[in-house]
Amino acid sequence: MNPQAEEDLRSGKYLFGRGTLDMKAGVAVQTVVTRRLAETVDQFAGNVVLVLTPDEEGDSRGILAALPHLRQLAAQEGLHYLGVINTDYTAPRFPGDNSFYVYWGAVGKLLPTFYVVGRETHVGEAFDGFDANLLSSELMRRINMNADLCDEDSGEVALPPVSLKQQDLKFEYSVQTPFAAVLYFNMATHAASPGEILDRFRARAAQAFDNVIAYLNAQYRRYCDRIEHDFRPLPWKSQVLTYEELYRKVRGVQGGTLDRSLDALAQRLGAQEAAMDERKLSLAIVEEVWRQSGLRGPAIVLFFSPPYYPHIGVPEGGTMAEVEAALKDDAARGEPARDAPARFYAAAERMLRETVQREQLRIEKRHFYPYISDMSFFGLSARIPGTREFIANTPAWGRGYHLAVEGNEDLLLPVVNLGPYGKDAHKMSERVLVDYSFRVVPEMVYGMLMEIFRGDR
Ligand SMILES: [Zn+2]
Repeated sequence: MNPQAEEDLRSGKYLFGRGTLDMKAGVAVQTVVTRRLAETVDQFAGNVVLVLTPDEEGDSRGILAALPHLRQLAAQEGLHYLGVINTDYTAPRFPGDNSFYVYWGAVGKLLPTFYVVGRETHVGEAFDGFDANLLSSELMRRINMNADLCDEDSGEVALPPVSLKQQDLKFEYSVQTPFAAVLYFNMATHAASPGEILDRFRARAAQAFDNVIAYLNAQYRRYCDRIEHDFRPLPWKSQVLTYEELYRKVRGVQGGTLDRSLDALAQRLGAQEAAMDERKLSLAIVEEVWRQSGLRGPAIVLFFSPPYYPHIGVPEGGTMAEVEAALKDDAARGEPARDAPARFYAAAERMLRETVQREQLRIEKRHFYPYISDMSFFGLSARIPGTREFIANTPAWGRGYHLAVEGNEDLLLPVVNLGPYGKDAHKMSERVLVDYSFRVVPEMVYGMLMEIFRGDR
């Protein structure tokens, strides 16, 4: 056990166990608050819906299945949703960090994926070919953990891109050099749209391509010197395409035949494998469009694999001064800001102020919840531009993968995360700080709900 965990164990203040923090504690908080709401239901006029969703760190099937039900429930019961209170776990942000955190939004996530095509050759004629692994490695080196690529908003910096997969697409041992490779990165977003992410990664891909061509030429020149052979520059040219560009090229020639063949491919793969991995499906579609394009490698095709979590920032008018101004305006009109996110944020601000005073704790407000969260699907910032670029560059879109990005304006809600606190999520030493998580946090959630409904009492 690490020394910090041992110290926490001895303190007696923590509850240990895998899953205690992420996510059982949050579910416990919501359950307790719901019970208390049921007991005090005559003390407020309003409605609270409890939604518990599985699969958050996988494909988020839970929340995606819940959204249509929430919409249906609203229509049935005449509900008008004001906002979402999430209780996802919180943790120290750096070693020795003694603050607690509440979040007024959440980080987004994209999975930019590179399909790298080489030119196959026999290993004995190495310079006649173009090794997809070499280009893939250069992409990895230029992108993985590169802090220049961190997205930033409101002074909060997101994590750099993190490699989640790198693989060549050779299935067996042979002396043929790898003809294709795939790699993808977890890309955290605070402000950038999918289109902007595409532009940034494309620029890196072009640099990586140029580097590899220069490197191969330099090595070939040295090799020619050593074997006393005339050097002639290698024929390689940089070729970086987005999926949208590749698709348009092929569709321009084939028309609707292309879509029909891709639908058939997706169906065939779905039939072979009941729970087809959306990353594998995406790659299979890209490989097929590449094959039909008649283009020759080397090339890089850049696209998005699922999942996509839009980031949620506090929208315009979200600062405290602006929130209070909005409330004053509403008061002047003689009615509470029923619909405005301002009402929701103002309730959160009041609750936070009272909690800090009462508990004498250091609780900091931040804009972006740093871990992937189902909150993203309620995001006000889903209105950000770039949805079109996302769809056009996501091969699995409409073929096993779909996000309700259109037609859900009624569910684009402000969110806050008031989460339990602990350490080492996903590790054997996972633990929850009991008093804060099971006393203070339920008070915050309940208190915020009461603040929201204050105007209705
Ligand atoms: Zn987790």
